[in-house]
Amino acid sequence: MKRIVVLGAAESGVGAAVLAQKKGFDVFVSDMSKIKDKYKELLNKHAIVWEEGTHTEALILNADEVIKSPGIPDGAPVVRKIKEKNIPIISEIEFAGRYTKAKMICITGSNGKTTTTSLIYHILKKAGYNVGLAGNIGSSLALQVAENDFDYYVIELSSFQLDNMYDFKADIAVLMNITPDHLDRYEFNMQNYVDSKMRIVRNQTEQDAFVFWNDDPIVAEELRKYNIKAKLCPFSEFKSDSVIGYVNEEEYIIEGPVPFNMEQEELALCGKHNLYNSLAAGITADLAGVSNDKIREGLKTFEGVEHRLEKVARVRGVEFVNDSKATNVNACWYALDSMRTPTVLILGGKDKGNDYSEIFDLVREKCIGLVFLGVDNSKLHAAFDGFGIPIADVRSMKDCVDECFKMAKPGSTVLLSPCCASFDLFKNMEDRGEQFKECVRNL
Ligand code: ADP
Repeated sequence: MKRIVVLGAAESGVGAAVLAQKKGFDVFVSDMSKIKDKYKELLNKHAIVWEEGTHTEALILNADEVIKSPGIPDGAPVVRKIKEKNIPIISEIEFAGRYTKAKMICITGSNGKTTTTSLIYHILKKAGYNVGLAGNIGSSLALQVAENDFDYYVIELSSFQLDNMYDFKADIAVLMNITPDHLDRYEFNMQNYVDSKMRIVRNQTEQDAFVFWNDDPIVAEELRKYNIKAKLCPFSEFKSDSVIGYVNEEEYIIEGPVPFNMEQEELALCGKHNLYNSLAAGITADLAGVSNDKIREGLKTFEGVEHRLEKVARVRGVEFVNDSKATNVNACWYALDSMRTPTVLILGGKDKGNDYSEIFDLVREKCIGLVFLGVDNSKLHAAFDGFGIPIADVRSMKDCVDECFKMAKPGSTVLLSPCCASFDLFKNMEDRGEQFKECVRNL
């Protein structure tokens, strides 16, 4: 019997283990950390052997194939040893893809993945499609393949998931943009990260489609290197001969496969970045055969995703916006770009190799105060101290919100769009966003 070892026992690993067990493999799950109770229960329910707090090499290096969770870096000692033994390492998505004939709609990019994935799912679901939502959102693809029988999957793919995908193919691949992110996992080499993102088009044929943001300079450069067979579906904010989705005279337009248009004003999501997300989603739905009425309905009724430019409350004339998910500089750029009132900006956290110069102009133009929320704010001070804008350093969300409220004036906005990961002071970006909302409500 073939032996499958799963490294990492969270959503993706446990889902992979359940599917592998169901398909008759000899399965073993190993996690260096403590496994959450709900995952232990699921493993036990399926009589899957597991260990936590260690990686027992004797039980791992005898695998025929290893499924690695995206959170485990290639440099981890156990991964190196697996590679030395030439044991193939794949991702959960690669594995799950072997056991379903469903159409795969896959979304990647440095920013906009969750929003676009959720929006596509919303449109398809509302249109009555038998569709699952997977990848970084909700339950894993593998678990859904084990337990459901969907005709379509809408899958959010991070670069880490793409790294270990080889034979998998997206029927519709969507690439939002490529800007520096996670460089700490790519030897601080941007091209490694870019190569990883471009794996989204791997194995695509003439039957498939590739939807992408036409104005991304990095994607444009990369496209020259690839011989992409899929139907190209570029979109842009502006009309031109080279794009099939755009806005023209405040009209949102998709040229095909079935021509579609609606008033831009009717789109549920605001901001330039969300226009890109709405174009990507509309084109994808069109390619998937959704009728114009249903595309329009979906684009109009989508409620947005928590922690992404989420309006929290207006307190004594000050608007509070939670964009805790902005864990890189580019996401913050779009958040600032969409601000229409003077802004107090909250920055800081765990820096992933950020270059803040990208937001210098917008900070000068829009910010009336900066609050640095992090254990080490030195890089932020080096970047912004010379701007002549009031700056405060804080280490808790309560102090942060109080400080912002002092700096803000009626008619202004406090924006949490920190450019950084949250792990220095918070459990994760959701925790950071929740605490922000809680403190705002307590003002
Ligand atoms: P991801 O899943 O790729 O991290 P999200 O949809 O969760 O993307 O959005 C992450 C952050 O990026 C949010 O702060 C959001 O405001 C911003 N954002 C969303 N879509 C885009 C886009 N197309 N381009 C740039 N920034 C975006």
